[in-house]
This record gives sequence, structure tokens and C-alpha cells, in this order.
Amino acid sequence: MLPLVLYRKWLLGHRSRWSRPMLLRLQQRELAALRQHAYQRSSFYRESHAGLYDSPLAELPVMTKQQLINNFDTVVTDPAIRLRDVIDHVAGMTGDALFLGRYRVVNTSGTTGLKGFFLYDPSEWAWVTASYVRAFEWGRSRISLVHKQRMAMVSSLAPWHQSTRVGFTANSPFVDTLRIDARQPLALIIQNLNEFQPDSLVGYADMVRLLADEQDEGRLKISPRAIYCSSEPLTPQARSTIQSVWGIQPFNVYATTETAGIASECEFHRGLHLYEDLVIPEVLGEDYHPVAIGEYGSRLVVTVLFSRTVPLIRYELSDSVAISSDPCPCGRPFAMLKSVQGRQEDIVQLQDFHGDSVTIHPNLFHGVMEGFPLKQWQIVQEPGRLRVLIQAEANGQLASRLRTKMETALNAAGARVPEIEIERVQEIQKTGIGKRKLIVAMSYSSTRA
Ligand SMILES: [Zn+2]
Repeated sequence: MLPLVLYRKWLLGHRSRWSRPMLLRLQQRELAALRQHAYQRSSFYRESHAGLYDSPLAELPVMTKQQLINNFDTVVTDPAIRLRDVIDHVAGMTGDALFLGRYRVVNTSGTTGLKGFFLYDPSEWAWVTASYVRAFEWGRSRISLVHKQRMAMVSSLAPWHQSTRVGFTANSPFVDTLRIDARQPLALIIQNLNEFQPDSLVGYADMVRLLADEQDEGRLKISPRAIYCSSEPLTPQARSTIQSVWGIQPFNVYATTETAGIASECEFHRGLHLYEDLVIPEVLGEDYHPVAIGEYGSRLVVTVLFSRTVPLIRYELSDSVAISSDPCPCGRPFAMLKSVQGRQEDIVQLQDFHGDSVTIHPNLFHGVMEGFPLKQWQIVQEPGRLRVLIQAEANGQLASRLRTKMETALNAAGARVPEIEIERVQEIQKTGIGKRKLIVAMSYSSTRA
């Protein structure tokens, strides 16, 4: 596996120096190959794209996670794969076990209630791993035999989590990987990091911000030369805290279970370059039409060019992203995302003074909360009120200043401010993959009910 990953890493590195027309030609070739494969081997695509085999990508139907699950056995291109068997395999999975002796299976965590399962043969898996290696290479983590990289990942250790499986593949003579379960108590995470002394640190953005505070207060004593943040919005405040503590800018990495690495920052940190040689992204609005450059869409539709076992053609993700119009001095041919402002399910719907709906994106809450010396926080939306849970040192002024700042920000966003309750807590509960859910929004339907 490793030689193939290293070859793909070399290929990907090469493409960074291509012109944009070269990149777009590659995309079209790869797309044609993917569609041909899907039409030959997947009865789902053969039927759902009937009459559209030669149509442009944008005219093809979008596939949701629900549709993928409902039609799984006909979407997959190997008739030996059955969803029921895949679910059984995952339930009993340990280590780097292969399904049918060939496929690595990963799934989404199901925080939205629905789990999506994705299978990769060895060739597809090499692309998945190479996509993450690209993010680390752009972040100046050089992989060489002369100096073995020590990389610490504070993440999920669940065998179905993509990062766990990539960790198995990447742990090699070149990279010494320490995987730390993000669900562990903070003191234990700190102890593990102090003992390991990583060259590179990888974690959820909120976890890395928390670790920066621990370093600042002297309990954590590491000096990483590269820091990667993923999975959550990386706000300017978090970025500047991390930079002031360790003296380096963190690299924002955007990856999903469905696509593997999809975008990350280069050395200029102007935005996240999209991996358009691996994925064709479409930023779409509520009405499934493309949004203008610079505007945030309400969904991201992806076509994963290397997907073969579970072909993903126009697959819908609920992430809200915007394409940047700024050029990047690095000269890479890839378009750039301004930022990832979170998932649809993290969006809080409030009302304005006319009773119309106002969309509050996670960035607003991050912006307010990260301006205060809080260890942890969580916003919980309930009918008619927002509960703001905080873990912080006792400070008489804090609650009232926080309330004022929140009211001002919500007002500025055009919302009628609901009741805001600020509650001090000992701990914010973590999810099954060790993340803290920072925003617990009521579903769109229940806010309208
Ligand atoms: Zn760049």
C-alpha cells in the first residue's frame, strides 16, 4: 500500500504546478471514466441517469445520503457487496480489517441520525490516504527517511472513522503516528502529548484551541512545527491564539468521510485550495442552483473522481462553504474556499421582527464566544431561548458582558433576540468521536412548527 500512496503523493505534488486549463482537462477525463464505470457496473446510476448519459454534470440528479442508503446494493459496483453484510462487518470490526478480503469500510458518525457507509479497494484507498498526505505536505510536514516525522492526532479511535484507518496506513518508516482519543480527559491528552513531543499536531479546531490555552498556562509543553485543524470552523480568534502560543499559523484542513481530503490551506493561508483533481465541487443554494462566487451556499455537491466501489456522482453534503474570488500568490491551479462555515444542522434559525426566519451561521457564535476566556462552551437552542453553557473561571462580569455581546451580534444579524440563559457547567459532554458539539440547533422544521 505504501509505495502506491507515495507514488500518488508524487502525482498530486506535480499537479500543484499545472495550469488551470490542464487541471480542467484532467477533471473532464476523470469524470468521463467515472461515469462510464458507473453506467457499466451500477444499476442505480444506469437507471437514474437514463437518457442523461451524455448530459453535462450539472444536469444530472443529486444523490442524498438517504438515497444512497436506500439504494446501496444497486449503487455499489461489486454485486458481492450487500449493505446488511457491510453493517455486520463494521459492528464487529477491529484494527485494519478488510471486508470481503479487499475493501476498507468507513462510515459517517451518524450525528444527523443517518449513517453513510463507504468502501474503498486498495487503489481507491491509496487516493484517500494521498489526499491527507497532500494536506500535510502543503503544511510543510516533509516526509523523509532522514527525519522521521512524529505526528500526534487527537481524534477518534473508532475503527470505522476514516482518520483511524488512514492512521493505520500512514504509520510507517516515515511517519511515527500517535493517535490520542479525543474523548479522554484533557489531563490525559496533555500527558500523552508531553511524552510524545510531536513535530506535527492534528486535531479538531476547538480541541487545538483548548490545547493552545493549556500550553499558554504551562501544563502542555510541546513545540510542534506544524499544526492542522479540521472538522470545525477555524475562526480568526482561534487562529491568533494558536499563533501567539506556538509562533506558527495553523493549517485549516477540510475533509469529509465521503470525499477524504477535499481542501486545505497552502503556505499563504488565504483560504483553502480545493482538491479539484480529486473532487468536482459545486456550491449550491437552497434551490440547487449555483451561488455567486463569494457567497455561501447551503449545500456542497461533490463528485468524487476516484470513487469506483461506491461511485459518488453529485452527492450532497450539508456543508456551507463559499468560493473565494481572491487569487493566491502560490500559483496553484486550484480554486479556493473562503472558509467552511459549518453544516446545515449547526445552523440556528431565529425570527426577525416580522416573524420571518433569520439564519444564524455557526461563525456568529464562534465569533462571540471565542472573544471570552472560556475553557469550553456550547449553545443549545430551545423553543424561545438560547442556553449558553460555559466552563470558565468565576468572574462576576463575564456573564453580563457575554450576554450583551451575544445580543448585539444577533441584533446585527437581523434577529429578534430570544431569551438568553448563561449557565456555568463543569464539563460539556463529548460525542462518540470525542468532539464537543458547539451548537445544538433545533431542526429547521421544529423552529417553524
Ligand atoms: Zn495558495
